Amino acid sequence: MATDIDSLLRTPKGYDWARLAIQAMETHRVWPTAVNFELWMHYVAAKDSDVAVRIDQVLQSGAAFTDMVGEAIAAELLPASKLSGEILDAGKSLSAELDTVSRAIESARETSEAYGQQLATATESLEEQDPEAVRSMVENLSVATRKVREENQALESQLADTTDELGRLREHLEQVRREAMTDALTMLANRKAFDETLEDACAQAATTGRPLTLAVVDIDHFKVFNDTWGHQTGDQVIRYVASVIGRVAKDARFAARYGGEEFAVIFPDEGRDAALSALEAAREEISSRILKRRSTNEDLGAITISTGIAEFRTADNPAALIERADGALYVSKRTGRNRTTLADMNSASQAA
Ligand code: GH3
Ligand code: MG
Ligand code: MG
Repeated sequence: MATDIDSLLRTPKGYDWARLAIQAMETHRVWPTAVNFELWMHYVAAKDSDVAVRIDQVLQSGAAFTDMVGEAIAAELLPASKLSGEILDAGKSLSAELDTVSRAIESARETSEAYGQQLATATESLEEQDPEAVRSMVENLSVATRKVREENQALESQLADTTDELGRLREHLEQVRREAMTDALTMLANRKAFDETLEDACAQAATTGRPLTLAVVDIDHFKVFNDTWGHQTGDQVIRYVASVIGRVAKDARFAARYGGEEFAVIFPDEGRDAALSALEAAREEISSRILKRRSTNEDLGAITISTGIAEFRTADNPAALIERADGALYVSKRTGRNRTTLADMNSASQAA
């Protein structure tokens, strides 16, 4: 296991280690990229870690510690790089597969070249019209023809295998990509997917001038709920709220788990009124349901959500849009929770 560098950094010695890591990188001419920094933090702070041992091996070998070397070590030894590790593995299988195919193609090419030469010799023999030469030429040609046919068959089956393998790899990569974008507790899109989708949606709205609305949702008094009923029951509630929010996100809409007990819905091509009525429906549905603990059927009461909604403005970037939706959410919280607030109600450009 890799050492948890993150918690090492949150100690008074963290600053010393960070300085030492940067010094060591400079000494060994390593660029201070985020990945390299994480690796070299292991090197200075956890001398016995797998990462530190591997770095020592590279240094002792006299090889340059390039970004590629760093990426490879990170992919193998740092847990956060699981994704790039999987992609590296897939890449390796892919290039092995392509090597096999190119060897097969090369061998088929050589055979067909030899066949061509045989044909040329045969033509010369025909011109000589010597019956003995013609007979041996026909024999040679039939052997050569069989060989070419066999090579072609081998190549075809190789290509079929490769196509299958490529299909499997593509599926695997697609699955890894999907997992990297999905929140494991709720199966909604995760924060990373949300960030990318909002970025695209803002760019789109800025170009087309079409509306775009963002809603951010936060469960009310959830800390108390957790403290009263336990974290596991809390998780069940997060899943329940996620299922309701997920249903809001029909068609082009996009719902994500934004953080712990926070959700977000992107409404491309829709204004705040559509978002307001969708989120109000979700709020009413959630607040009117009496929750029960699955295992004991115990009555847990109802929970409520607060929401903030903001519409995209031409000069907005994703951060500005989120900030205004958050501001509206804060107003919902401050004015009693279990409500939905539209941002900029007093702004002339936003007023209905
Ligand atoms: P408010 O109405 O102001 O939002 O109050 P709150 O207690 O919901 O707000 P706060 O942000 O202070 O607390 C959020 C709590 O959500 C903290 C934590 O106990 C809980 N929480 C965050 N993520 C998870 C999670 O994944 N599972 C569970 N069970 N609880 C979580
Ligand atoms: Mg919160
Ligand atoms: Mg909350």
